[in-house]
Amino acid sequence: MNLLEKRFLRSGKVKDIYDAGHDKLLFVYTDRLSSHDVMLADSVPQKGEVLCRLSAYCFANCKDHGIETHMVEVLDPNKMLVKKLFLIPIEVIGRNYLYGSYWKRYKHGEIQLPEGTNPVLAARLTEPVVEFTTKFEAKDRPLTEQEIVSSGWLGTPEISQIEKTTLELNALMLKDAERAGFILADFKLEFGIDEEGKIILADEAETPDTCRFWDASKYQPNKVQESFDKQIVRDYLEKVKGWDKNQPMPGTKLPKPILPEEIIRRTRQRYVEAYERLTRRRF
Ligand code: 5GP
Repeated sequence: MNLLEKRFLRSGKVKDIYDAGHDKLLFVYTDRLSSHDVMLADSVPQKGEVLCRLSAYCFANCKDHGIETHMVEVLDPNKMLVKKLFLIPIEVIGRNYLYGSYWKRYKHGEIQLPEGTNPVLAARLTEPVVEFTTKFEAKDRPLTEQEIVSSGWLGTPEISQIEKTTLELNALMLKDAERAGFILADFKLEFGIDEEGKIILADEAETPDTCRFWDASKYQPNKVQESFDKQIVRDYLEKVKGWDKNQPMPGTKLPKPILPEEIIRRTRQRYVEAYERLTRRRF
């Protein structure tokens, strides 16, 4: 695939996006790494490939179950041709466990838990919850259905359809996770609208960058859980003395910390293991 023939459109934290004809885009999943909302100087070899191949695995599973996605074709292990869509500017969050920002909002008295849920950190919710947040604001902010409708982004029937699709996909991902010995605590999805007005699953799915996976064998409610993603990097950075994400590293002019080889190697291993356990295929 010659990228020079394609027109570069934009870069996200992880993906580079190119125009690939009037109705298609080329997604290049890179190995870039961010933590604490900062792009790091290091990358994790083949992380992009894991994200692309896991998304492709999930999208193929969606297709088998009647859920439409934007995937057209995987061109290289880290390159996917997708349908051009109007991207709905909201993030859709599915939750099976009381954790992350949901736990924080519960502690601040901002939300009601599904009836019968044990109100402790990392408890399983008695039923899955679907929420919406902003996508293009500096910090993700929960959105009510009313706000989405009054912004003119979606009508009530489209919101219901997204909720239904999110719950269907949750059921598929829960099966994969359970078989892999993971707990799927929560996840993020994005949707777009095609030329006919159909709502279609977009972006990436079932990846360690968009899901909180916990090792089922280590799960204990009422405790902080270790998630199967770049937690190794997060934990390392929290121990780097004097690192301030807005300042150069102490004693250097480098704006970002340089990660030890060992941290990168272990992080890569985690991503590859997530791929192998979820898909039951060798990487
Ligand atoms: P929380 O709202 O609890 O922080 O996150 C809920 C879930 O959504 C987690 O699985 C988290 O990984 C995912 N998530 C939330 N916001 C984003 C985002 O901006 N990007 C990605 N990739 N995932 C997100």
